[in-house]
Amino acid sequence: MIVILTSSISEQSLDYQYTLQALQELPNIEIQIRTIQGQQESVTEIYLLGDTNGISKENIEALPGVEKVIRISSEYKILGRHRSKQSFEFTYNDVTFSQDSLHIFAGLCAVDTRESVELTFKSLQEHKLNCARMGAYKPRTSPYSFQGLGEKCLPYVFELAGKYGIKVIAMEVTHEKQIEEINQALEHSGNATGVMIQIGTRNAQNFELLRAVGTQQRYPVLFKRGYGITLSESLHAAEYLALAGNQNIIFCLRGVKSLFGSPHRNLVDFAQVPVIKRLTRMPVCIDPSHSVGISGKAPDGISDIYHATAQGIISGANMVLVDFHPNPPRAIVDSKQAIPTHDLGWFLEDIAISRRAYEARKALADKKA
Ligand code: PEP
Ligand code: MN
Repeated sequence: MIVILTSSISEQSLDYQYTLQALQELPNIEIQIRTIQGQQESVTEIYLLGDTNGISKENIEALPGVEKVIRISSEYKILGRHRSKQSFEFTYNDVTFSQDSLHIFAGLCAVDTRESVELTFKSLQEHKLNCARMGAYKPRTSPYSFQGLGEKCLPYVFELAGKYGIKVIAMEVTHEKQIEEINQALEHSGNATGVMIQIGTRNAQNFELLRAVGTQQRYPVLFKRGYGITLSESLHAAEYLALAGNQNIIFCLRGVKSLFGSPHRNLVDFAQVPVIKRLTRMPVCIDPSHSVGISGKAPDGISDIYHATAQGIISGANMVLVDFHPNPPRAIVDSKQAIPTHDLGWFLEDIAISRRAYEARKALADKKA
C-alpha cells in the first residue's frame, strides 16, 4: 500500500507527525518513506510493507495530510508504477535523473592507464559532458584475464575527474568491500567527483550484494538486467535494492545472451525501454556497447552501435552507458566495441537527432491524447 501525502507537506507539521505515528502503530507493517523531488513541488510517499489486506484504505485516507492511498497489487511494490503519474526523480552531485532526462556516460570499459583516463575525461569535457563510465573492478569470464586495476586506480581516476568537471562516474562493484574503498578514495580526493554504483549483469541476482548496495544511501545505483533471466526476474532483483533502502536506481538494458543475436554479442533488448517505464518509475539506461559488442558498420556508413543507440533514444531512454577509448585497439577489455574518443562529437550529434525525433513523437502523442 502506498500512502501519498499532500504535496510539499513539512515533516515538522502536526499533520505529518500524527499520520506517521498512526502508520507506525499498524501491527506487522514495515514503513518506508520516500520523498520525490519534482521541478515544482516535492511529494512524500509512505510505503506500508507487509500484509496490508486487513487495513482499510478509507481509514488511512481519512488521516490528516493524506492525499490518496493506492493499494498495490503488482509485484514491484516499491519500484512499480502503480497508476502513479510521477516517475522517480533524484539529484546526485548536481545531476538530475528521471524518466524525462537524458545523460551520456561515455568512457573506459576498464581503466588501463592514467593517460587514457585523462585523454577520455578531456574529450568528455570538450563535448560538455559531465558524466562518465570507468571500470576499476572487472568481473571476467576467465580468471586468467585482466581483472581490472581495482582500488589502485581510484586516486587518479577521481582526481582527474575533478580536474575535468566530471560529476558522476558509473563504476561497477563486484563485492561490497569495494564501496568502502570508493568511500576512502573519494574522501582523499576531497570528493572531487561522484560515483554511481553499477551492478553488473553477472551479479543481477547476487542478492547479498544487492542488499549491501541497497543499504547504503550515499550513491545512486545503476542496475544492469541479468543477461540470462527474464525482465520480470531482473525487476524483482532491482526491488531488493529498493527494499534495502536505496531507491535511487537506474535500470539498464544491455542485451540478453542468445545465439539469435549473432553476430552481435547479445540480443539487443531496447524495445523494452517503454515497458520498463510503464511497469516501474525508474529512469532507463541503455548500454549499446555490451549489447552489440562489435564495431561493424552497415552500408549506410553508420555503425551497429550507433544504430542500436538510436533505437533506444528514439524510444525514450534516459541514459546511455557506452565504451569509448582514446585508442581502441589498445583497450585491454572489450576493445572490439570501444568507440574512439575522436568520434565522440559524431556520436553525440547522432544521439541529438534521435532525441529530437523522440520529443517530436511525444508531442504528437500528446496532441492525439
Ligand atoms: C560493464 O559495463 O563494464 C559490464 C561488464 O557490463 P555487463 O555487466 O552488462 O556485462
Ligand atoms: Mn565491458
